[in-house]
Amino acid sequence: MVGNPNWTNEFKESFKDLRELYHFLDWPLPEVLLDVTRKYPVFVPRKLALKMKQQGPFGVLAREFLPHIHELSDHGLSDPIGDKNHFKAPQLIHRYHSRALFTPTTVCPVHCRYCFRKNELNSPEEIFQQDFLETISYLKAHPEISEIIFTGGDPLTVSNQKLEKYLRSFAEIESIKDIRFHSRYPVILPSRLDEEFCALLKWASDQFRTVSLAIHANHESEFDEESKKAISNLNGTGVQLLSQTVLLKDVNDDSTILIELFELFLDLKVRPYYLHHPDQVKGGLHFYLPLERGRIIYHSLRDRLPGWALPQYVIDIPEGHGKVSAFNPEGTSFSGQLISRTGELKKLQEPDFFN
Ligand code: SF4
Repeated sequence: MVGNPNWTNEFKESFKDLRELYHFLDWPLPEVLLDVTRKYPVFVPRKLALKMKQQGPFGVLAREFLPHIHELSDHGLSDPIGDKNHFKAPQLIHRYHSRALFTPTTVCPVHCRYCFRKNELNSPEEIFQQDFLETISYLKAHPEISEIIFTGGDPLTVSNQKLEKYLRSFAEIESIKDIRFHSRYPVILPSRLDEEFCALLKWASDQFRTVSLAIHANHESEFDEESKKAISNLNGTGVQLLSQTVLLKDVNDDSTILIELFELFLDLKVRPYYLHHPDQVKGGLHFYLPLERGRIIYHSLRDRLPGWALPQYVIDIPEGHGKVSAFNPEGTSFSGQLISRTGELKKLQEPDFFN
């Protein structure tokens, strides 16, 4: 089957030069933002830039994807979730007993300004080195790993042929039963979900116990008719569609906005899965909101969504202590410590820099 080559063209034609992007937007460019993009480059596909233009300079899309002077701040953590502590084989992060993250690329279809890996993706040489045979050996030596989670970067940046090669190798390891992809392509560059990719997912669903695709979106206005149609087309592939959303200050820190988003996911037969509390990433602290505020918002969601449509509200404890529940049914205030996944109490110092 011949794939649709359009997505690669769309990808290549994305804005990578801030002056060109602002010229297209027809907005005045604050010169200081050029300094920001020297540190954290910009990457915006043209269709997304058009939606951003229609929404205006104070819209949520501009906030999510345009550089901000606060990115020059030195506050925050370079590796907020402690990836480096858990790289156990090339391109493989083994943090949780039964699942491992596989990072086949550092490239994404857009540069989210809040990205938790924004510092790692900028200097990837050290941790994203490749040696697939070594990766496979590690997985064979660790039969407790039953799920491989494709992440990155965005794993769908990799060609269908290469994805198939990886999947075939994983399918040969008896202990690997489940596959999950986390991706922003379905919403940001939906032409990536071409016929060939859908066929690949269909094939993969027969090889593994489950194949899931977690679609990353934070606001209803990120979608358009093309992305809705592309996501609907995935429904025939046998893949479990999940959502993943980051709670972001001045983007979606409002229960009504989140309800609109989760209702849209449900319309598209995507099950709300994760609502992430923002990580304390260096260059992204202007998106941070206190845990207490997040708990108040989540409390309101619990009242308005049925349990099966309610995403898990989670927070990653810095230094690699893992993802834990961010909600506390006893109250919304935050004591300053969380129980890690291994049962220890860990301090969490919240930044007050931007709050
Ligand atoms: S798609 Fe994910 S990994 Fe890529 S920039 Fe956005 S948040 Fe970061």
